[in-house]
Amino acid sequence: MKTAVKFDEFPPVDFGHTAFLFDVDGTLLDIAPVPGAVDVPSQLPDCLVGLEGRCDGALAFVSGRTLAELDTLFAPLVLPAIGSHGGEIRFGRNDVFREPPLPGEVKARFRGLADADHRIIFEDKGCSIAFHYRLVPQIQPVLLQALQQKQADLQEDGLEVLRGKAIIEIKPKRYNKATALRRLMQERPFLGRRPLFAGDDTTDEDVFAILPEMHGTGISVGRRMTGAAYSVGRPEDMRSWLCRLESGTG
Ligand SMILES: [Mg+2]
Repeated sequence: MKTAVKFDEFPPVDFGHTAFLFDVDGTLLDIAPVPGAVDVPSQLPDCLVGLEGRCDGALAFVSGRTLAELDTLFAPLVLPAIGSHGGEIRFGRNDVFREPPLPGEVKARFRGLADADHRIIFEDKGCSIAFHYRLVPQIQPVLLQALQQKQADLQEDGLEVLRGKAIIEIKPKRYNKATALRRLMQERPFLGRRPLFAGDDTTDEDVFAILPEMHGTGISVGRRMTGAAYSVGRPEDMRSWLCRLESGTG
């Protein structure tokens, strides 16, 4: 029998057996018009540090952003993390795995999509490329149609198109947030713990789908999502819960 989704509630947490895994944009942080403009509320890094201590370090970001961007956002905090939708995995402070960069000629084949409007922000993430169009949302059908015409190229290069909130990314098909999370969960201090994952966007659905393998729990932010047993309204709700948890009042 399917369990009903619990709205505006959070799961109980056993710090000895839980691994905390959080998407960042739209889950912990409010989405901003351009990716560089997001605000990290001052109390959040302290809450994350406190939580990390309570679960023996089993706390990681699971983001489409690169590790470098995550580190800049949360500086001086450096956490284990999955970056670039699984293209990068940081197991500990210094132990980083990176997928090989996309070949230059592959990037060149798609880069021209950004010429559709000067307000599209092109981002080269190394192992993938992204087009941010929050400043010009009406351009989305144009971008998707252009990609449709490049289906054969995408197939040939083993690439897939990810559609997020005002972002389209092109990355190799062979990995995603879920494949990376499986790898992270095989290493200490994550090994043997139950993942508690929160996410808000389509790319997080892959992770929600594999949580049962590890007896994990999913929290969706902003809307109900398949595989998430809990659903809360806003990143602010997540942040205040984490701070309550950390202080022992949650
Ligand atoms: Mg997100």
